[in-house]
Amino acid sequence: MPKTLLFASAILVASTAALAEPTYVVADRMLDVESGKYIANPVIGMDDGKIVSVSTGAAPDGAEVIDLTGHTILPGLIDMHVHLDGRPEYGGYSGLQFTDRFWTFLAAANADKMLKVGFTTVRNVGDTDYNVAGLDQAIEEGWLQGPRIVNANYALGATGGHCDETFLPPSFNRKSPAVGDSPEELRKRVREQRKYGAEVIKACATGGVFSRNTAPGIQQLNLEELTAIAEETHFWGLKAAAHAHGAAGIKAAILAGFDTIEHASFIDDEGIRLAKERGTFLSMDIFNTEYTLSEGEKNGVLKENLDKERLVSKAQRDNFSKAHKAGVKMVFGSDAGVMPHESVPGQFAVMVRLGMTPLEAIRAATINAADALGQKGQVGTIAVGAWADIIAVDGDVLANVRELEDVDAVVKGGKLVE
Ligand SMILES: [Zn+2]
Repeated sequence: MPKTLLFASAILVASTAALAEPTYVVADRMLDVESGKYIANPVIGMDDGKIVSVSTGAAPDGAEVIDLTGHTILPGLIDMHVHLDGRPEYGGYSGLQFTDRFWTFLAAANADKMLKVGFTTVRNVGDTDYNVAGLDQAIEEGWLQGPRIVNANYALGATGGHCDETFLPPSFNRKSPAVGDSPEELRKRVREQRKYGAEVIKACATGGVFSRNTAPGIQQLNLEELTAIAEETHFWGLKAAAHAHGAAGIKAAILAGFDTIEHASFIDDEGIRLAKERGTFLSMDIFNTEYTLSEGEKNGVLKENLDKERLVSKAQRDNFSKAHKAGVKMVFGSDAGVMPHESVPGQFAVMVRLGMTPLEAIRAATINAADALGQKGQVGTIAVGAWADIIAVDGDVLANVRELEDVDAVVKGGKLVE
């Protein structure tokens, strides 16, 4: 580098340093999710929303400090499967009592709740009316408080399938704008959803629990259609998520090249082998069953849907253990919206009960999730260059993962969440 240029850049560095004073997080210890080890007296420097230094000891004299002394810090959590514009309290037909915009405001309330319980990033895999794209923009612009959102907009699917409108008679003439019934139609749906802000594409490969007249075990998009969706999604540089309960639909989605399989309830040995071989992530919502079965009827959930939940949940939990044991990559996905958003941290304990170590469960919601989002090094880690998203808990999360059910402080983008 010529001397003059070197001199000029030195001045530039000096002047930005003078303008930007890092803020520091200090705590008793930090869980390094990569190594699985605790680090004592961490000092995390943050500037302009990002982490700029990670050291130990004490913050520089006179620096602005977020003092989390007495606490253990770890990266902000990531939930890979949420529906921010829904609430379980409005099951079955009860949601029809509200005007369309009701759900937009509900999404804002849910985003706030998820952030406060420690989720600084969520992947929203299916909404209506582009509620979540608007919410995402309002949060990014600073009008509302909420997690970072990786948003799918409408989920793609077959006419009459799980992700179509399945609750209304023909005279209401209502269908999802994201249905398609051929590879070409579905390629166009990918482009449309991306056009209006989708950052991930979700498609419904099989029937599901909370739709009408769909069977979770039955495939609803064929291999050619799924391949067209995955190809088109990757062509545009996005990741593809497949809702799939039944074994055939799961395998077809993996073969088609989807990056994550949502639910994966009836995955068979062949599906587990394929997922492992292809590096496909499973996102299994193994916590919401008890909520649905105890509160569903009161919330207006139809008998048909409660019956399907009973059918799916036991197999899903057994297969979670099996897939994890086989070494398939797993991420944390709750299906919040089917259960209250604020109760999502309860899933960690179920993951541990079904065979994960606490560290594995935490990795599913941090580094593994970041990897599945294509955002490794940006979220799910406390490292230089990552977003300054940090949570604080009491006690030892590696001994008792339920400590994550009581997060004491949340820092998002370098700012303490009120
Ligand atoms: Zn879902």
